[in-house]
Amino acid sequence: MDDTKILLSENELPEAWYNIIPRLPNPPAPPLNPQTKEPVKPEDLEPIFPKSLIEQEMSPEPWVEIPGAVREIYKLWRPTPLQRARNLEKALGTPARIYFKNESVSPPGSHKPNTAVAQAYYNKEAGIKRLATETGAGQWGSALSFACKLFGLECTVYMVKVSFEQKPFRKSLMHIWGAEVFPSPTNRTQAGRKILEENPDSTGSLGIAISEAVEDAATHEDTNYALGSVLNHVLLHQTVIGLETQKQLALAGEKPDILIGCVGGGSNFAGFTFPFIGDIIEGKLEAEVIAVEPTSCPTLTKGIYTYDFGDTAGLTPLLLMHTLGHSFEPPAIHAGGLRYHGDAPLVCQLVKDGYIKPRAYPQNPCFEAAVLFAQTEGIIPAPETSHAIKAAVDEALKCKETGEEKVIVFGFSGHGHFDLAAYDAYLEGKLEDYEYPEEKIKEALEALAHFPKFPTGL
Ligand SMILES: *Cc1c(COP(=O)(O)O)cnc(C)c1O
Repeated sequence: MDDTKILLSENELPEAWYNIIPRLPNPPAPPLNPQTKEPVKPEDLEPIFPKSLIEQEMSPEPWVEIPGAVREIYKLWRPTPLQRARNLEKALGTPARIYFKNESVSPPGSHKPNTAVAQAYYNKEAGIKRLATETGAGQWGSALSFACKLFGLECTVYMVKVSFEQKPFRKSLMHIWGAEVFPSPTNRTQAGRKILEENPDSTGSLGIAISEAVEDAATHEDTNYALGSVLNHVLLHQTVIGLETQKQLALAGEKPDILIGCVGGGSNFAGFTFPFIGDIIEGKLEAEVIAVEPTSCPTLTKGIYTYDFGDTAGLTPLLLMHTLGHSFEPPAIHAGGLRYHGDAPLVCQLVKDGYIKPRAYPQNPCFEAAVLFAQTEGIIPAPETSHAIKAAVDEALKCKETGEEKVIVFGFSGHGHFDLAAYDAYLEGKLEDYEYPEEKIKEALEALAHFPKFPTGL
């Protein structure tokens, strides 16, 4: 097939999500209760999540049916196109064939509504009236606001104060979709009031905003909490991306040699690659799978594999993952969605077992690749997405040297229409490249050392 866009019809939308858990070579390690160091019991999570999502966290089922109401909403923008980047190939002079799965066509502009819609649905089914969440730059907050509105749920977003003040446009999206948005720290929660007492001028952090959203959910009967990445059920919902891509590559008569995605908490990467990794585990596919992160927050490439808290404040269960330590504060790079101290436990396990190869890039070369992409393919990538593009460009240039006609497929996680200030800074030569200093990483990891060694069950 010579088409530039490989499209599926709406009735080819996947009917079930793909669960990697029963296909893993080793069973996943459970999250632990920080007090008892015992695996977290499902009931422990019921104050903030509906039973259906808690079940999906550890489901042994290879496939999980997508509810009809969720598929109907997916049809507002899914199936998303798989596109051949012919102009980019020409500009690079590569014999490789480059494809990208375009998740930027969703209403909020990224992959995040794939799980936001599912989470809103299950909470509505459970009789919940309102969802509380945190957001940094606003990608997740806007996706959840959109999803809640479609299911008639209220939505409360705790937005990191510095972003609330400096990045007004995604806040506008949240308001249009009917959410209430508060600059965090707020005086609506104990967690927020405590921070404000100590430091009235606090500009907030994702860790503080998570604490506020979780407290809001835990203290209101009709309110639950929603998380946009990291957890198994979030990764599960994102697998529509990879399942569609498999069908589209088959239509194009292609087999992927290299699959690439950017990793913040790991959800778009997992959603795109897990169905392929399942095939690799089962010996049905041979391909290289590359996870790309920033050198300023090198979780998979430089972190250690250990149990750590999911949040900065140390309130969540302990997760077995690659981590830079929950006290790690990455510099303020423009790919805000990639600044997380840990990564999804399922992604980390597959890195440890050798199925995923991690790689890190500084932000200037990523923006350079993003601008080349915008100038050839037209679409302006999110700064997060630019990391995947940079890796795809590098792999395509390797093919140019060797003459190999590899098929390179990457996940295009979102557009950058609300990140134009970052592009301005890049074009004006004002962006700093940041290699996180080894000593800083060592310090953060030493802070972890006072934790007892947890049994991993592995
Ligand atoms: C949030 C976000 C990411 C990073 O989150 P993951 O959970 O790692 O996918 C990447 N790209 C875009 C466009 C995002 O909005």
